[in-house]
Amino acid sequence: MKTFILTIAGGGSTYTPGIVKSLLMRKDQFKLEELRMYDIDAERQNKVAVIVKEVVKEMDPSLKLVLTTDPEEAFKDADFVFAQMRVGKYKMRELDEKIPLKYDVVGQETCGPGGMAYGLRTIFPMIELIDFVEKYAKKTCWIVNYSNPASIVAEAIRRLRPNSRIMNICDMPVGVMRNMAAILGVAREELTVDYFGLNHFGWFTKVYVNGEDKLPVLREHARVHGLLTEDMSKVDVQHSDPSWIKTYKNIKYLVDMFPEYIPNPYMQYYLLSDHIVANTNKERTRANEVMEGREKRLFDAVDQYLATGEMNKDAFYVGVHGLFIVDVAISLAFDLRKRFLVIVENKGAIKNLPDDAMVEIPAYITSNGPEPVRVGEIPTFYKGLIEQQLAAEKLLVDAALENSYEKALMAFTMNKTVKSAFQAKQILDDLIEANKEYWPELR
Ligand code: NAD
Repeated sequence: MKTFILTIAGGGSTYTPGIVKSLLMRKDQFKLEELRMYDIDAERQNKVAVIVKEVVKEMDPSLKLVLTTDPEEAFKDADFVFAQMRVGKYKMRELDEKIPLKYDVVGQETCGPGGMAYGLRTIFPMIELIDFVEKYAKKTCWIVNYSNPASIVAEAIRRLRPNSRIMNICDMPVGVMRNMAAILGVAREELTVDYFGLNHFGWFTKVYVNGEDKLPVLREHARVHGLLTEDMSKVDVQHSDPSWIKTYKNIKYLVDMFPEYIPNPYMQYYLLSDHIVANTNKERTRANEVMEGREKRLFDAVDQYLATGEMNKDAFYVGVHGLFIVDVAISLAFDLRKRFLVIVENKGAIKNLPDDAMVEIPAYITSNGPEPVRVGEIPTFYKGLIEQQLAAEKLLVDAALENSYEKALMAFTMNKTVKSAFQAKQILDDLIEANKEYWPELR
């Protein structure tokens, strides 16, 4: 049986135990010979590894587990790398969220000025990671990347490392499909969807179950309930925090006004930005919710295990996040040609968008990478919105590569969440100050 060396980059992520569990649930199909955790923060990674070691002991005790901060040890002869780095960690995410909110602008991890700030921190560390992998791993190694902000990261990689073997993915569409399946009373695997857009900026246009388009049924449900079933806490812990419940509920406003398609939940930040800001607690944002929730639960479980030898298995979970990345890797490993939504270079797939846009669309995942489907032409409303967002993302990558303050200001001004160039400048200047340690210099 073929076996694989797999490295999780960003091993200190609180998602790592869930991803490892998901990998080991599939060991009969995708057998690991060695599992490595790589991070630049050894202390954080060692803590998370306390739980990971337990998962390995229980599910595949003979598996070799390596923890390292050394890129050569991490990537030597690797077959797969799962990337999930958060540059600046939650401390910087909190600032990404709170600085724009000071000016009554959406404060969010990947959308608006916060997302652009995160992008400027992440572009070069991601390129460095790709270079490590290309230097040490097998030539056939695939990087499957969750690191956000995925659109900006993907655009920078397209320009700087166009031939790298990287699949940029996002769990949001799969999360939506999980909710759609719960609403329709079928398994998620029974859905086949059509979708177009950029990452965190797109629309479901068809939702097939057994060849029948169920979008009309979902539309009627979503108009009243958003994409919620009666008890979301039974569906997935990851998306049952109060802010996620609100997010799935807000879809009802968008579907009511624009019933043609079902939007990605992140569209709320662009199309309902005034409502979002008015309903946000500026002192306690999503970063606080995660630090006091998911992160605390996991680190408390580590402390409890070290003190008592008892493991709280509710401190982490697999969820669609853990399942999806493993599904993609298995399709890459065995040429399964499974259909998933992934981020790819457009190259004509959406006919009336530029060839060099990094778009999120369905693709068949083969061992040579994605074979995207042809989407065709998209209607003017969506095309206009996407072009504006795409321009902001491209300008931001220009700013990073050219060290250009003016391009960064253009990107911030262009973003739909920002009202004026004055406002863009104030937020940009505050973010420059906050990100001194991380951003390329903007002159
Ligand atoms: P986290 O802060 O818990 O973990 C991230 C880890 O990355 C930390 O341990 C940190 O030390 C490490 N790191 C930072 N810079 C690094 C570098 N240069 N090399 C190696 N490791 C580095 O964050 P999290 O909440 O688990 O999220 C991890 C990533 O996954 C983030 O980018 C997040 O936005 C992304 N994410 C994506 C999706 C998606 O569907 N696309 C969903 C959830 C999270």
